[in-house]
Amino acid sequence: MQFLSTQIEFLKGVGTARAEMLKKELGIFTFADLLFHYPYRHIDRSQVYRINQIMPDMPYIQLRGVIKNIRLLGQQRAQRLVADLTDGTGRIELVWFKGIKWIQESITEGKEYMVFGKPTEFNGSFNIAHPTVDDPESAESKMYMHIMPFYNATERMKAKNIDSRVIMKLTNNLVTDIRFDITENLPEYLVKQQNLLPRKDALVNIHYPANAEMLAKSQQRLKFEELFFIQLRLLRYKIKRTQVYNGIKLDLIGDYFNTFYNNHLSFELTNAQKRVLKEIRANVKSGKQMNRLVQGDVGSGKTVVALMSMLMALDNNYQACMMAPTEILAHQHFATIQGLIKDMPVKVELLTGSTKTKKRKEILQGIANGDIHILIGTHALIETVVQFKNLGLAIVDEQHRFGVEQRAKLWKKNTYPPHVLVMTATPIPRTLAMTLYGDLDTSVIDELPAGRKPIKTVHRNDANRLAVIGFMREEIAKGRQIYVVYPLIEESEKMDYMNLQNGFEELSKHFPLPKYQIAMVHGKMKPVDKDAEMMRFVRGEAHIMVATTVIEVGVNVPNASVMIIESAERFGLSQLHQLRGRVGRGAEQSFCVLMTSYKLSADAKLRIKTMCESNNGFEISEVDLKLRGPGQLEGTAQSGVLDLKMADLAKDQNLLQDVREIATQLLENDPELESPVHQQLKQYFINYGKTSRWGQIS
Ligand code: ADP
Ligand code: MG
Repeated sequence: MQFLSTQIEFLKGVGTARAEMLKKELGIFTFADLLFHYPYRHIDRSQVYRINQIMPDMPYIQLRGVIKNIRLLGQQRAQRLVADLTDGTGRIELVWFKGIKWIQESITEGKEYMVFGKPTEFNGSFNIAHPTVDDPESAESKMYMHIMPFYNATERMKAKNIDSRVIMKLTNNLVTDIRFDITENLPEYLVKQQNLLPRKDALVNIHYPANAEMLAKSQQRLKFEELFFIQLRLLRYKIKRTQVYNGIKLDLIGDYFNTFYNNHLSFELTNAQKRVLKEIRANVKSGKQMNRLVQGDVGSGKTVVALMSMLMALDNNYQACMMAPTEILAHQHFATIQGLIKDMPVKVELLTGSTKTKKRKEILQGIANGDIHILIGTHALIETVVQFKNLGLAIVDEQHRFGVEQRAKLWKKNTYPPHVLVMTATPIPRTLAMTLYGDLDTSVIDELPAGRKPIKTVHRNDANRLAVIGFMREEIAKGRQIYVVYPLIEESEKMDYMNLQNGFEELSKHFPLPKYQIAMVHGKMKPVDKDAEMMRFVRGEAHIMVATTVIEVGVNVPNASVMIIESAERFGLSQLHQLRGRVGRGAEQSFCVLMTSYKLSADAKLRIKTMCESNNGFEISEVDLKLRGPGQLEGTAQSGVLDLKMADLAKDQNLLQDVREIATQLLENDPELESPVHQQLKQYFINYGKTSRWGQIS
């Protein structure tokens, strides 16, 4: 550890200037930082090819031969340096467009060289542009005669000639330093049992693999380790929480719950809803604090599950609250829940950033003295001034827009932390759930209410616009309502508003007043105006709702049966699915029309195709993960917890599953890591907790 925490300037080959560069550009401050700056790829240079073995589409290859006939071709500004390389089996041209002077000085005609680069075919013969050329007898080129690592370096570094090769020399100096020693951080029995490379071997071979197999084994080992410590941490949290915090015991099912269930519920719960409610009930009556994630596809009926869970709290004389990510959504929940429990003696209030001072005062008082049973709101709910009399259950809807810290704040809302239920807006991939919410228990509502007709999704472009307008007219004539959604992406915000405005005006021509009413909602509007427009649509006064993605989450207007998404290629998959989920909520056949431009990238095509073929949010989220990688998925980018160095949540599903099971088992046997065989692990784990950003997860 001592050695690895040495400042980088003390590494052979670094010096002050390079140290500055490494710190500034790559955040490499210590030996350890450099060691963990893994190569982004390797190229096998252990093999030397013959010129007559070169074939089209070969990757980087290495040749050994004599350089002849060095010549400058072309005009002043478009000059290039060309040389021939021969090895007795053939001849190939080497070409340089840049750094010509430097190359001219460093190569000599008639001498033998190791040449490395990617051959390209041109007019029936091969050449290599910008090959690297080394003296075959030099120590350096002997170092290259292996599987060679390639490292990321920034443009600024390259301008100062600190490129992948320089970094390679540095990592080489590091791992060949006689003081280089790395202690194992996994228990020896686990290393053996899982057939993992020892840590030190893995860290050397990840840079300088002895062969392809060793490279694969190092990657495997480092992935295992990376995922293992994340899981260990999350699982430890889970255990700790149940030890430290006594949960509130909600064991009564009483009037609130029963009255609602018997007299107010206008439909039969799905089996999935029943099962999830049972899971929640078992949890809250156990005396252990609940921390549960409820995943359910759009329209699977999470709201009613939320409400019934809150009624469980009320039956035990506790309050409940529900936190939504946006004002619109908080309003919507408030209205929905009031509607569901109307005539029941339950006092529900709404608190958001725009609640007027007088009202706010009243609410704060009612919350503190217990008059208010259920409080719904935005993150205004978790401000410290909001003091509950006795909060028993906190529900976080559409969690992925809240930070993890905000989730943690909820626990402090009571002497005993309240039970916490987190609900996702759309399903998230299994591996992501296990990583982001790995400290929570999970419930899945994997069934839609009966009688829902799957939404028909089609792909159209501008050439079909008139037909789409015609279709809209027909649907409106049938009494349906329609959403038209425009993308809003920050970089091009101005353009987007223009598109939205234009779209609105265009539609106004096709659907003129007074016969047709069009509402419009976007993020730049005052909340009051936004609400007023939204309400026009909710009440059925407006036929069409033109909007940006502000309507994306949670909005529920069962009479709306058509969702038209403009520039659909600009949306991510889960966002498309979430938007589409705004329709298909009533008994009518619903439609989703994805409007795109004519030319689409391969990714966009796959997204659109996936949407047209699947209505299943769980499936869609998996495709999304594969396409975008975890870091880019909505709501996870800001959490920063998913920039894994080695493991890939899209590809390493099975490994993650195994690792989680292994970590669970280990903690079951030794929750405090007290066993002598776990001391090594414990030591590392303590430090890991201090340095890792996983510390923020709670
Ligand atoms: P989401 O899971 O997307 O939040 P909601 O809770 O908004 O879904 O429910 C969508 C619609 O389905 C609502 O209109 C709700 O009243 C209705 N619903 C919920 N559960 C059932 C059920 N078991 N049977 C019929 N309709 C249901
Ligand atoms: Mg919802």
